[in-house]
Amino acid sequence: MTSAPVSVPALNTSRSQDLFSAAQTLMPGGVSSPVRAFRSVGGDPIVFDRVKGAYAWDVDGNRYIDYIGSWGPAICGHARPEVIGALHEALDRGTSFGAPCALENTLAEMVIEAVPSVEMVRFVNSGTEACMSVLRLMRAFTGRDKLIKFEGCYHGHADMFLVKAGSGVATLGLPDSPGVPRSTTANTLTAPYNDLEAVKQLFADNPGEIAGVILEPVVGNAGFITPEPGFLEGLRELTTEHGALLTFDEVMTGFRISYGGAQARFGITPDLTTLGKVIGGGLPVGAYGGKAEIMAMVAPAGPMYQAGTLSGNPLAMTAGIKTLELLKQPGSYERLEAITKRLSDGILAAGREAGLPICGGSISAMFGFFLCDGPVRNFEEAKATDSQRFGRLHRAMLERGVYLAPSAFEAGFTSLAHSDADIDATLSAFRDCFAAIA
Ligand SMILES: *Cc1c(COP(=O)(O)O)cnc(C)c1O
Repeated sequence: MTSAPVSVPALNTSRSQDLFSAAQTLMPGGVSSPVRAFRSVGGDPIVFDRVKGAYAWDVDGNRYIDYIGSWGPAICGHARPEVIGALHEALDRGTSFGAPCALENTLAEMVIEAVPSVEMVRFVNSGTEACMSVLRLMRAFTGRDKLIKFEGCYHGHADMFLVKAGSGVATLGLPDSPGVPRSTTANTLTAPYNDLEAVKQLFADNPGEIAGVILEPVVGNAGFITPEPGFLEGLRELTTEHGALLTFDEVMTGFRISYGGAQARFGITPDLTTLGKVIGGGLPVGAYGGKAEIMAMVAPAGPMYQAGTLSGNPLAMTAGIKTLELLKQPGSYERLEAITKRLSDGILAAGREAGLPICGGSISAMFGFFLCDGPVRNFEEAKATDSQRFGRLHRAMLERGVYLAPSAFEAGFTSLAHSDADIDATLSAFRDCFAAIA
């Protein structure tokens, strides 16, 4: 006799469903950003009412342990009193100046001190803006047009990055979305992640034409994929050898993989870096920075134009400063590393116990797993994951009060607010749910 499945009271999400039905008549797909619509896991999305610490509450009153953290910014926990308190004070002095503000100096100093490659920084309003601006800068500085990116790496939704290199057209730079002209992506070359030989070949085939290479130094947008030993080093050498620039897109990994980002953790210093998510502490922010010599190209110091009405606004700067202050306290990253590793090890063990193919891991406050044997080194291999099974897992976890990213191809995030008891409860839910989907 097998043991009876653990019964869980059905999740009542009727208000979420009503709101989402209405939203679909008001906004395309009912959302402001596609992955929120749960299309890749099936079922209706949960409409949140409020967030605090490690938890999110939906409009029906259900509580979830949250492993998305607003897709990264909530690394100190949602709605930290220090951040909220500082925001209240900042609010009373006005929401936007459109003029220089002292808070920009403070956050810039913190970013420059923390991130090895950054000697000067420009604040923008999103990761997308940071990446599109950094590409313009790479081109402006080198006087070259071509860019190398990696399959499965996400750099925001600007035209030039919207290239999915399908197998047949591996390096042709065909656009991924209607509305993106072929001419816009013609200069976007792609290679599989962790494949240094492919990058070498692109440099050989396009001599003197490649402005730079951009990548997620730890991938979070194709599931969680880590750089193999030698990959980042190899890219550093190749770009230097060919007079091209190396950009780490640390919008996700910045202040998450370590206080100095992935570049500090791995000891590889790129020429340029993009940031977002954590440095806004939950408000809309992005930034790009790098060597002073390169940043001197940016207007008004130099000729490369880039601007923003709300850039560097006092609310976003305040939330960013407070978040970095909290992260800087001794023990923060040790704590993040320890709980995330315990979570990740527990997930893998639970999956194997249930007889499922599973692989994955964690670095600092970022983790992920794939329902396949692995190891997964690139997007092509990530696609071997059983996404239907992941969909069932996602739903089952929701019913047990755990909110995972609604896609098999997203990394998970922990925060300083996740307690040991939260991790235990999560692992217990995983054990039940893996058994249910095995
Ligand atoms: C989220 C993300 C972006 C885009 O940032 P937005 O603020 O959503 O525009 C770019 N690059 C990476 C690596 C990201 O994770």
